[in-house]
Amino acid sequence: MRALWLEKRLDESVADHANKGVLTLTRPRYLVVGQISHETNVFSPILTGLDQFQGRELAYGEGLFEVFKGTKTGIGGVIDAAEQAQRAGRQVELIPTIAASAVPSGLVTRDAYAHLLGTLLDGIAKAKAAGKLDGVVLILHGAMVVDGITDAEGDILQNVRRVAGKETAVVATLDLHGNISQKMISYADAFFGYDTNPHVDPYERAVEATGRILDIIDGKIRPVMAIEKLKMLPPTINMRTAEGPMVRLFAMAREFEAQPGVINVSVFGGFPFADIPEAGSSVVAVADNNPALAGHIVKTIGQEMWNTRGQFLKPITAPAGAVRHAMSPEAQAKGKPGPIILADVADNCGGGGSGDTTVLLQTLLDMGARDVGFAIMWDPGAVKQAETAGVGGTVTLDLGGKTVPAHGDPVHVVGTVKKLTNGEFVNTGPMGTGLRVSVGPAALLQVGGVEIITISNRMAPNDPEIFRHVGIAPEKKTILVVKSRGHFRAGYEPFAKEIVEVDCPGAASPNLSWFEYKHIPRPMFPLDRV
Ligand SMILES: [Zn+2]
Repeated sequence: MRALWLEKRLDESVADHANKGVLTLTRPRYLVVGQISHETNVFSPILTGLDQFQGRELAYGEGLFEVFKGTKTGIGGVIDAAEQAQRAGRQVELIPTIAASAVPSGLVTRDAYAHLLGTLLDGIAKAKAAGKLDGVVLILHGAMVVDGITDAEGDILQNVRRVAGKETAVVATLDLHGNISQKMISYADAFFGYDTNPHVDPYERAVEATGRILDIIDGKIRPVMAIEKLKMLPPTINMRTAEGPMVRLFAMAREFEAQPGVINVSVFGGFPFADIPEAGSSVVAVADNNPALAGHIVKTIGQEMWNTRGQFLKPITAPAGAVRHAMSPEAQAKGKPGPIILADVADNCGGGGSGDTTVLLQTLLDMGARDVGFAIMWDPGAVKQAETAGVGGTVTLDLGGKTVPAHGDPVHVVGTVKKLTNGEFVNTGPMGTGLRVSVGPAALLQVGGVEIITISNRMAPNDPEIFRHVGIAPEKKTILVVKSRGHFRAGYEPFAKEIVEVDCPGAASPNLSWFEYKHIPRPMFPLDRV
C-alpha cells in the first residue's frame, strides 16, 4: 500500500521535475513537530500541573496550525520554514503533535509530564508506523525540572530517540536560560539556542532548525555537537545580549558561525533557580562532521565566559531608594519624556516568581507615590471581590502576599474599581508578537496614587498591552512597576525614561545567597569563591 503510494508520488515528482528540466527524485520529508517548554523554579511552592499548561498554551495535533500559524513563535517558525521549503521545491509535510508551555513556576508534576511526553511520543510512534518519519523538530526550553526528574529535556530527548530510532534526525531549539546537559547532547543531532535576550528570536531559531534538519535528512550535513559546561551559575539579571558580558560571547559565536563547517554556536547563561546537578552556564557548538572543530569552539568561548564571570553580577537598588529616586523631580526632569520603570525583578513570573509579593507596592503606598501604573498583582480572590463591587465600586482588601509569607504580607488597602476585563489581549511588542494571551479575569484598582492591575492567571507583564488593555497609556505614566526581570525591556525600553532594578524579596531574586542549594555541583560561582 505504502509502496504504491510512494511510487505514485515519485512518478509525479519525476514528471514535475522533468517539466522543469531537473532530474532529481524527491519524496516528501516528514517532520514531526512538538513543543514541551517550561522554565522551572524549584524554589517556587507553586507546582506546575496540566492546568498551568492549559492556562498558557496547550494545543494538540492540527490545533498547532490554528494557534501558531502566522505568529513569531517557535512553532510558527517551523510552519513558515516548511512552507518556504515547499515554495523552493522541497516537499515537506509537518506532523503536529503537541505544543505545551506554562508560565515559569515550581516543579512540573509527574502526571502533567507523563501526559505531555506521552502525547509527543505517541505522535512520533504513529508517524513511524505510517512510514512518515524523517525527523523530529522540538521546541524545548532547557530548564525544565519534573518532580523526580532533574534533567527533563534529557529525559524527553532520550525517549524521543528511543521511539524515533537512530536513523531519524532530531533537532531542538532551546532557551538561552537552559541548563544544558551532556545527556541532552547525546540524544539529539543539533541544538539551536536563542541568540537574543530578551528573546526575540525563537521564531528565527525554529526556522533555522527546520532548514537544518532538512539538510540532515537530505544528507547535506552530518552534525556533531560539543558542550563546555562551566562551574558558574550567575543570576540572570545581566545576561542581556545588548550589553554586558554576553555581547562579547555572542560576537565570538557569530565569528565561529561564519567559518566553514560550523552549523550553530549557542551560549547558554543557565537558570539559577534550579537546584539540580545539571545547573550551570554552558556553550554548545554544532559542526559538520568535525568533532575537533566543535570541541575547539566550545573550549574557546567557554574560557572567555569563565574569565568574564564577574561581569554577570550587578548591584540592584533597595525598594525605598528606588521609589525615592523615581519620585524625585531631578530624576523625572532628566532624559527623554516617559515613565521611570521600577522592575521588581525578584517577582518575575517569567522566572518563577509568584507575582504576588508586596514589598514594592507597600513602599510606593507608604511613600505616597503618584501617577503609578503597577503590573501586576496576582490575586484571583481580589479580582472576584472587585467584580462583585463593580466598576466605580469600593473594595477593602488584603491584597497579594498569599504565596510565600517571607516575601511580604498582604497589603491592606481600600481601593476603587476602575476597570474590569477578561484579561485577554494581543501582544504588540517584539516578543511573541501577534500572540493572543490572557491574564484571566482582571481588575484595575486605584489605591492612592497607584493603579494596580490585579490578575487571575500568573503572567509577567512583558508586553505593554497589559497596561493598554485596562485603559492605561504606559508611556504617559510618571512611574511604572513591572514584575519582570528583563523580557519587558523589548517592549518598554523605547518609551522608558529610565529603568531601575529593585531588590525586593521573591522566588526569582538575583540575590542568590537567599536560596538554599543542596544539589548543584560545588564549588559554583558566584555562590562559592572560585
Ligand atoms: Zn529565557
